[in-house]
Amino acid sequence: MGATYRGRFAPSPTGPLHAGSLVAALASWLDARAQGGQWLVRIEDIDTPRCVPGADKLILQQLAAFGLRPDAPPLYQSQRGAHYQAALDALVAHHLAYPCACTRQDIERALPAARARHGELVYPGTCRQGLKGRPARAWRLITGDREQIRQSALSSRDTSAIDFIANEELHWQDRRLGAQQQHVEQAVGDFVLKRADGLWAYQLAVVVDDAAQGITDVVRGEDLLDNTARQILLQQALGLPTPRYLHVPLVRGANGEKLSKHNGAAPLDISEPLRALNDVAQVLGLQPQADQLADWLDQAVQQWGRAVKSAGD
Ligand SMILES: [Zn+2]
Repeated sequence: MGATYRGRFAPSPTGPLHAGSLVAALASWLDARAQGGQWLVRIEDIDTPRCVPGADKLILQQLAAFGLRPDAPPLYQSQRGAHYQAALDALVAHHLAYPCACTRQDIERALPAARARHGELVYPGTCRQGLKGRPARAWRLITGDREQIRQSALSSRDTSAIDFIANEELHWQDRRLGAQQQHVEQAVGDFVLKRADGLWAYQLAVVVDDAAQGITDVVRGEDLLDNTARQILLQQALGLPTPRYLHVPLVRGANGEKLSKHNGAAPLDISEPLRALNDVAQVLGLQPQADQLADWLDQAVQQWGRAVKSAGD
Protein backbone atom coordinates (compact mmCIF):
# COMPACT_ATOMS: atom_id res chain seq x y z
CA MET A 1 0.00 0.00 0.00
CA GLY A 2 1.88 3.08 1.25
CA ALA A 3 2.46 5.70 -1.41
CA THR A 4 0.13 4.03 -3.89
CA TYR A 5 -2.92 4.27 -1.64
CA ARG A 6 -5.66 6.55 -3.01
CA GLY A 7 -8.95 7.00 -1.23
CA ARG A 8 -11.92 9.25 -1.81
CA PHE A 9 -15.00 10.80 -0.31
CA ALA A 10 -17.85 11.17 -2.78
CA PRO A 11 -20.75 13.30 -1.53
CA SER A 12 -23.85 14.19 -3.52
CA PRO A 13 -24.40 17.96 -3.40
CA THR A 14 -28.03 17.69 -2.31
CA GLY A 15 -27.44 19.74 0.84
CA PRO A 16 -24.85 20.36 3.56
CA LEU A 17 -23.04 17.49 5.28
CA HIS A 18 -24.71 15.99 8.34
CA ALA A 19 -23.32 13.65 10.98
CA GLY A 20 -24.03 10.61 8.80
CA SER A 21 -22.00 11.87 5.87
CA LEU A 22 -19.20 13.08 8.17
CA VAL A 23 -18.63 9.47 9.29
CA ALA A 24 -17.82 8.44 5.72
CA ALA A 25 -15.72 11.57 5.13
CA LEU A 26 -13.71 11.12 8.33
CA ALA A 27 -13.26 7.35 7.91
CA SER A 28 -12.02 7.68 4.34
CA TRP A 29 -9.68 10.53 5.32
CA LEU A 30 -8.31 8.62 8.33
CA ASP A 31 -7.72 5.49 6.28
CA ALA A 32 -5.79 7.47 3.65
CA ARG A 33 -3.73 9.35 6.24
CA ALA A 34 -3.02 6.27 8.36
CA GLN A 35 -1.68 4.50 5.29
CA GLY A 36 0.35 7.41 3.95
CA GLY A 37 -1.95 7.76 0.97
CA GLN A 38 -3.82 10.45 -0.91
CA TRP A 39 -7.38 11.51 -0.20
CA LEU A 40 -9.58 12.85 -2.99
CA VAL A 41 -13.06 14.34 -3.11
CA ARG A 42 -15.53 13.63 -5.88
CA ILE A 43 -18.75 15.62 -6.17
CA GLU A 44 -21.41 13.18 -7.34
CA ASP A 45 -23.68 15.63 -9.11
CA ILE A 46 -24.99 13.48 -11.96
CA ASP A 47 -28.53 13.30 -10.56
CA THR A 48 -28.98 16.93 -11.50
CA PRO A 49 -32.64 17.32 -10.45
CA ARG A 50 -31.66 16.47 -6.85
CA CYS A 51 -28.58 18.73 -6.69
CA VAL A 52 -28.75 22.01 -4.79
CA PRO A 53 -26.79 24.92 -6.30
CA GLY A 54 -23.89 25.87 -4.04
CA ALA A 55 -24.07 22.70 -1.93
CA ASP A 56 -20.73 21.51 -3.36
CA LYS A 57 -18.96 24.65 -2.11
CA LEU A 58 -20.68 24.35 1.25
CA ILE A 59 -19.59 20.73 1.64
CA LEU A 60 -15.97 21.61 0.81
CA GLN A 61 -16.08 24.44 3.36
CA GLN A 62 -17.48 22.09 5.99
CA LEU A 63 -14.76 19.51 5.27
CA ALA A 64 -12.10 22.20 5.56
CA ALA A 65 -13.54 23.33 8.91
CA PHE A 66 -13.07 19.75 10.16
CA GLY A 67 -9.49 19.73 8.87
CA LEU A 68 -10.30 17.39 5.98
CA ARG A 69 -8.65 18.84 2.88
CA PRO A 70 -8.38 16.89 -0.39
CA ASP A 71 -4.97 16.38 -2.01
CA ALA A 72 -6.28 17.44 -5.44
CA PRO A 73 -9.09 19.63 -6.76
CA PRO A 74 -12.44 17.83 -6.57
CA LEU A 75 -13.73 15.89 -9.56
CA TYR A 76 -17.27 16.78 -10.69
CA GLN A 77 -19.30 13.98 -12.22
CA SER A 78 -21.44 16.48 -14.13
CA GLN A 79 -18.37 17.20 -16.28
CA ARG A 80 -17.60 13.56 -17.06
CA GLY A 81 -20.40 12.58 -19.43
CA ALA A 82 -18.02 11.85 -22.33
CA HIS A 83 -16.17 9.29 -20.19
CA TYR A 84 -19.39 7.55 -19.16
CA GLN A 85 -20.50 7.49 -22.80
CA ALA A 86 -17.16 5.93 -23.85
CA ALA A 87 -17.60 3.21 -21.22
CA LEU A 88 -21.15 2.51 -22.36
CA ASP A 89 -20.01 2.42 -26.00
CA ALA A 90 -17.32 -0.14 -25.11
CA LEU A 91 -19.85 -2.35 -23.32
CA VAL A 92 -22.27 -2.12 -26.22
CA ALA A 93 -19.48 -2.95 -28.69
CA HIS A 94 -18.81 -6.13 -26.70
CA HIS A 95 -22.51 -6.98 -26.46
CA LEU A 96 -22.39 -6.55 -22.71
CA ALA A 97 -24.94 -3.75 -22.63
CA TYR A 98 -28.20 -3.42 -24.49
CA PRO A 99 -31.05 -0.94 -24.90
CA CYS A 100 -34.22 -1.46 -22.90
CA ALA A 101 -37.64 -0.19 -23.90
CA CYS A 102 -39.49 -1.23 -20.76
CA THR A 103 -41.48 1.15 -18.63
CA ARG A 104 -41.89 0.38 -14.93
CA GLN A 105 -45.33 -0.98 -15.73
CA ASP A 106 -43.88 -3.29 -18.39
CA ILE A 107 -41.41 -4.68 -15.83
CA GLU A 108 -44.12 -5.13 -13.18
CA ARG A 109 -46.27 -7.01 -15.67
CA ALA A 110 -43.38 -9.31 -16.62
CA LEU A 111 -42.44 -10.14 -13.02
CA PRO A 112 -43.76 -12.52 -10.43
CA ALA A 113 -44.47 -10.39 -7.35
CA ALA A 114 -41.71 -12.14 -5.41
CA ARG A 115 -38.99 -10.60 -7.54
CA ALA A 116 -39.15 -7.13 -6.07
CA ARG A 117 -36.39 -6.35 -3.57
CA HIS A 118 -35.90 -3.31 -1.32
CA GLY A 119 -38.78 -1.84 -3.32
CA GLU A 120 -36.66 -2.18 -6.47
CA LEU A 121 -37.79 -4.44 -9.26
CA VAL A 122 -35.46 -7.21 -10.35
CA TYR A 123 -35.27 -6.70 -14.10
CA PRO A 124 -36.42 -9.89 -15.85
CA GLY A 125 -34.24 -9.45 -18.95
CA THR A 126 -37.11 -8.77 -21.32
CA CYS A 127 -35.09 -6.71 -23.81
CA ARG A 128 -32.12 -9.10 -24.03
CA GLN A 129 -33.95 -10.51 -27.02
CA GLY A 130 -34.18 -7.11 -28.69
CA LEU A 131 -36.56 -4.16 -28.67
CA LYS A 132 -39.07 -5.67 -31.12
CA GLY A 133 -39.73 -2.27 -32.67
CA ARG A 134 -40.19 -0.40 -29.39
CA PRO A 135 -38.06 2.77 -28.80
CA ALA A 136 -35.02 2.45 -26.51
CA ARG A 137 -35.42 4.14 -23.12
CA ALA A 138 -32.53 2.99 -20.94
CA TRP A 139 -29.32 0.96 -21.30
CA ARG A 140 -28.59 -2.09 -19.14
CA LEU A 141 -25.62 -4.34 -18.34
CA ILE A 142 -26.01 -8.05 -18.97
CA THR A 143 -25.60 -9.86 -15.65
CA GLY A 144 -26.95 -13.25 -16.58
CA ASP A 145 -25.25 -16.58 -16.59
CA ARG A 146 -23.18 -17.51 -19.57
CA GLU A 147 -25.32 -20.34 -20.88
CA GLN A 148 -28.40 -18.21 -20.72
CA ILE A 149 -26.71 -15.38 -22.54
CA ARG A 150 -25.34 -17.74 -25.19
CA GLN A 151 -28.89 -18.79 -25.94
CA SER A 152 -30.17 -15.26 -26.21
CA ALA A 153 -30.43 -13.45 -29.52
CA LEU A 154 -28.10 -10.76 -28.28
CA SER A 155 -25.15 -12.95 -27.45
CA SER A 156 -25.42 -15.20 -30.47
CA ARG A 157 -23.44 -12.54 -32.34
CA ASP A 158 -20.43 -12.71 -30.05
CA THR A 159 -19.87 -14.87 -27.02
CA SER A 160 -16.15 -14.20 -26.62
CA ALA A 161 -16.51 -11.10 -24.49
CA ILE A 162 -18.93 -12.57 -21.99
CA ASP A 163 -16.70 -15.25 -20.59
CA PHE A 164 -16.05 -13.16 -17.50
CA ILE A 165 -19.63 -13.46 -16.39
CA ALA A 166 -20.33 -16.60 -14.44
CA ASN A 167 -23.66 -17.72 -13.08
CA GLU A 168 -22.20 -18.14 -9.64
CA GLU A 169 -22.39 -15.65 -6.86
CA LEU A 170 -19.86 -12.87 -6.91
CA HIS A 171 -17.60 -13.04 -3.84
CA TRP A 172 -15.49 -10.30 -2.31
CA GLN A 173 -13.96 -9.31 1.00
CA ASP A 174 -15.04 -6.26 2.92
CA ARG A 175 -12.26 -5.01 5.21
CA ARG A 176 -14.67 -4.64 8.14
CA LEU A 177 -17.56 -6.99 7.37
CA GLY A 178 -15.54 -9.88 5.95
CA ALA A 179 -16.70 -12.26 3.24
CA GLN A 180 -19.54 -10.92 1.10
CA GLN A 181 -21.47 -12.39 -1.77
CA GLN A 182 -24.22 -11.56 -4.18
CA HIS A 183 -25.75 -13.24 -7.18
CA VAL A 184 -26.27 -10.07 -9.15
CA GLU A 185 -28.61 -11.48 -11.76
CA GLN A 186 -30.94 -12.95 -9.14
CA ALA A 187 -30.67 -10.07 -6.68
CA VAL A 188 -30.84 -7.13 -9.09
CA GLY A 189 -31.05 -8.34 -12.67
CA ASP A 190 -29.55 -6.55 -15.66
CA PHE A 191 -29.09 -3.14 -14.12
CA VAL A 192 -29.35 0.32 -15.64
CA LEU A 193 -26.25 2.15 -16.93
CA LYS A 194 -28.05 5.06 -18.56
CA ARG A 195 -31.48 6.00 -17.33
CA ALA A 196 -34.64 6.58 -19.33
CA ASP A 197 -34.45 10.28 -18.40
CA GLY A 198 -31.03 10.48 -20.08
CA LEU A 199 -29.05 10.72 -16.81
CA TRP A 200 -26.11 8.43 -16.12
CA ALA A 201 -26.70 5.73 -13.53
CA TYR A 202 -24.80 5.92 -10.26
CA GLN A 203 -23.10 2.52 -10.72
CA LEU A 204 -21.51 3.37 -14.06
CA ALA A 205 -20.32 6.83 -12.99
CA VAL A 206 -18.76 5.50 -9.77
CA VAL A 207 -16.90 2.68 -11.49
CA VAL A 208 -15.57 4.89 -14.30
CA ASP A 209 -14.49 7.60 -11.85
CA ASP A 210 -12.93 5.31 -9.25
CA ALA A 211 -10.73 3.97 -12.05
CA ALA A 212 -9.99 7.44 -13.46
CA GLN A 213 -8.96 8.68 -10.02
CA GLY A 214 -6.84 5.59 -9.39
CA ILE A 215 -8.79 4.74 -6.23
CA THR A 216 -7.29 1.75 -4.39
CA ASP A 217 -9.56 1.82 -1.33
CA VAL A 218 -13.23 2.68 -1.17
CA VAL A 219 -14.27 3.63 2.37
CA ARG A 220 -17.97 4.52 2.60
CA GLY A 221 -21.17 3.98 4.56
CA GLU A 222 -22.68 0.55 5.01
CA ASP A 223 -25.81 1.66 3.16
CA LEU A 224 -23.76 1.41 -0.04
CA LEU A 225 -22.61 -2.17 0.63
CA ASP A 226 -25.34 -3.55 -1.60
CA ASN A 227 -23.92 -1.68 -4.63
CA THR A 228 -20.52 -3.35 -4.40
CA ALA A 229 -21.25 -6.51 -6.39
CA ARG A 230 -22.72 -4.49 -9.26
CA GLN A 231 -19.68 -2.24 -9.27
CA ILE A 232 -17.25 -5.19 -9.27
CA LEU A 233 -19.17 -6.78 -12.15
CA LEU A 234 -18.92 -3.51 -14.09
CA GLN A 235 -15.19 -3.23 -13.32
CA GLN A 236 -14.71 -6.72 -14.73
CA ALA A 237 -16.80 -5.91 -17.79
CA LEU A 238 -14.75 -2.79 -18.46
CA GLY A 239 -11.40 -4.41 -17.66
CA LEU A 240 -10.82 -2.07 -14.70
CA PRO A 241 -9.13 -2.93 -11.38
CA THR A 242 -11.27 -3.64 -8.32
CA PRO A 243 -10.40 -1.52 -5.25
CA ARG A 244 -10.47 -2.78 -1.67
CA TYR A 245 -13.76 -2.03 0.09
CA LEU A 246 -14.45 -0.94 3.66
CA HIS A 247 -18.01 -0.14 4.69
CA VAL A 248 -18.31 1.81 7.93
CA PRO A 249 -21.27 1.87 10.35
CA LEU A 250 -24.13 4.29 9.83
CA VAL A 251 -25.27 6.99 12.18
CA ARG A 252 -28.85 6.24 13.10
CA GLY A 253 -31.51 8.75 14.01
CA ALA A 254 -33.84 8.48 17.02
CA ASN A 255 -36.20 6.33 14.91
CA GLY A 256 -33.40 3.81 14.25
CA GLU A 257 -33.23 4.68 10.58
CA LYS A 258 -30.12 5.80 8.79
CA LEU A 259 -29.55 9.50 9.35
CA SER A 260 -29.93 11.27 6.03
CA LYS A 261 -30.82 14.57 4.46
CA HIS A 262 -34.17 13.02 3.62
CA ASN A 263 -35.18 12.32 7.21
CA GLY A 264 -34.26 15.70 8.50
CA ALA A 265 -30.66 15.29 9.72
CA ALA A 266 -29.37 18.63 10.94
CA PRO A 267 -26.47 20.22 9.07
CA LEU A 268 -23.21 20.05 11.01
CA ASP A 269 -22.24 22.89 13.27
CA ILE A 270 -18.80 23.92 12.02
CA SER A 271 -18.35 26.52 14.75
CA GLU A 272 -17.53 23.64 17.14
CA PRO A 273 -15.84 21.06 14.90
CA LEU A 274 -14.61 18.91 17.78
CA ARG A 275 -18.11 18.37 19.13
CA ALA A 276 -19.29 16.90 15.81
CA LEU A 277 -16.04 14.99 15.32
CA ASN A 278 -16.26 13.41 18.79
CA ASP A 279 -19.80 12.19 18.07
CA VAL A 280 -18.69 10.71 14.76
CA ALA A 281 -15.52 9.16 16.23
CA GLN A 282 -17.68 7.12 18.64
CA VAL A 283 -19.45 5.51 15.69
CA LEU A 284 -16.03 4.52 14.33
CA GLY A 285 -14.82 3.21 17.71
CA LEU A 286 -12.24 5.98 18.17
CA GLN A 287 -11.64 8.10 21.26
CA PRO A 288 -9.20 10.92 20.59
CA GLN A 289 -8.82 13.08 23.69
CA ALA A 290 -7.15 16.25 22.34
CA ASP A 291 -8.95 19.57 22.52
CA GLN A 292 -7.19 21.15 19.52
CA LEU A 293 -8.36 20.11 16.04
CA ALA A 294 -4.91 19.27 14.61
CA ASP A 295 -3.97 17.18 17.67
CA TRP A 296 -7.35 15.49 17.69
CA LEU A 297 -6.91 14.47 14.04
CA ASP A 298 -3.36 13.20 14.71
CA GLN A 299 -4.63 11.03 17.55
CA ALA A 300 -7.50 9.76 15.43
CA VAL A 301 -5.09 8.82 12.62
CA GLN A 302 -2.90 6.91 15.10
CA GLN A 303 -5.87 5.06 16.59
CA TRP A 304 -7.24 4.24 13.16
CA GLY A 305 -3.82 3.02 12.03
CA ARG A 306 -3.52 0.68 15.03
CA ALA A 307 -7.00 -0.71 14.33
CA VAL A 308 -6.16 -1.30 10.66
CA LYS A 309 -2.89 -2.99 11.59
CA SER A 310 -4.47 -5.29 14.17
CA ALA A 311 -7.26 -6.16 11.74
CA GLY A 312 -4.59 -7.17 9.24
CA ASP A 313 -2.63 -9.33 11.71
ZN1 LIG B 1 -36.61 -3.83 -21.25
